[in-house]
Parts: sequence; C-alpha cells; structure tokens
Amino acid sequence: MTLPDGVERHDFGGETGLATRGEPVYGEATDGAWRRWDPDRSKLGAMLALGMETGLAGSETVLYLGAAAGTTVSHVADFAGPTYAVEFAPRPVRDLLDAADPRPNLFPLLKDAREPESYAHVVEPADVLVQDVATRGQALVANRNARFLRPDGRLLLSIKARSEDVTADPAAVFEDVLTTLEERYEIEASESLAPHHDDHLGVVARPRR
Ligand code: SAM
Repeated sequence: MTLPDGVERHDFGGETGLATRGEPVYGEATDGAWRRWDPDRSKLGAMLALGMETGLAGSETVLYLGAAAGTTVSHVADFAGPTYAVEFAPRPVRDLLDAADPRPNLFPLLKDAREPESYAHVVEPADVLVQDVATRGQALVANRNARFLRPDGRLLLSIKARSEDVTADPAAVFEDVLTTLEERYEIEASESLAPHHDDHLGVVARPRR
C-alpha cells in the first residue's frame, strides 16, 4: 500500500503509527512537527492503517463531507491541496474553524451535504471526495456529490451500518448501500474497518463515465 506524500509512519513514545505534519487538533500525540493520525478516531485513518489502496498521492483537491470538529479533515489538509470541509451542525463547526486557523488550505462550509447545490458555487472540481456523514441515506449523499468529482477522481467513503438501520444485519445494509452507490460509481474496493470501527465499511470507488 502506498501512503500519500505527507503521510509517514512515526514513533510516538514507543508506539508507531501514521502521522501528518501540522498543529495538533484533538489531543493526539505529537513530536512538535508530526502528529499521530489515530485510526480509532478516524475512518480514513483506519482505511490507510488497514492498508486499503486509496489512490491518495498528496496535494489533491478534496471535498470532505461530514467534517465534524475536524479530526480527520485536519490530517487531510496537512497533506492535500485545497480541502473543502462540509458540516451541517453549527457546534462542531466552531472547533472546525479553530482547526482551519493554522491551515490556509482548509475551507469549512456550514452546509448540508444532501443539498450540494448550496455549495456548488464555492467548491472547485475535486480529485477526491471523502465522506463520513454517518446518517441515513449515505449512498444518496455520495451520489448527489459525484457531480464535484473529476472523471479520474475517487470516492473514499465510510459507511456506518447502524446509521441506515440499527436492527438490520450490517452485511445486508452494506449490500444495499453498495447497490445504490453503483448507480454513480464503480466500486474498486470495500473492506471492514474493524477493529478500529465496528460495523463500518470502507469503500474506494470511481465515478462512472
Ligand atoms: N469525519 C469526522 C472525523 O473523522 O473527524 C467525523 C464525522 S461524524 C461520524 C459524522 C458527521 O457528519 C457529524 O458531525 C454530522 O453532524 C455530520 N453530518 C451528518 N449528516 C450531514 C449532512 N447531511 N451534511 C453535513 N454534515 C452531516
């Protein structure tokens, strides 16, 4: 598995893990320059830690849906180019603004990812669409936002089974979500994010031509 430029393995007090270079955001270990990317706190971090082939190279333009307080998107902005971070809950956006403060390439957007037309005038065509919204209708959100992906771009998606249906078998939920995704994407890989995140599926996909 290839790590993007700007993501490295580092040792933090005897524990080796992925790291990016930047200001700490969520109390993660840091050596003053590099900060640990905790796969237990980040679905994209788990995808990388589990060796999923994400295709990330570094310096890409990224649209990130479900940014919350900026845990993962701050790591992304450490190695990517322009990074548009969509989050619809005002409370976490306050912390997201703090994470963006030392990162001039990170652009928080207080918007609803189900309504891409509300930020279409701001966002430029993206090489990578990262999504971690953990709400019902995760595939529909990804499908609606496919319009922002360049033809050779990639979707890096985390699906939380319980967000679709708390009572259903996660395997059945994942199958349904992947079927809906296939209307707009070709699935390249999908893998459980356990042991970092139970009942979550990591997906790498390309937009259909
Ligand atoms: N990706 C974050 C991270 O790793 O740091 C954690 C994201 S959390 C699991 C899911 C977030 O998605 C929540 O902050 C929630 O408010 C947000 N969210 C859910 N539905 C959304 C929507 N339709 N538009 C924008 N944000 C949404």
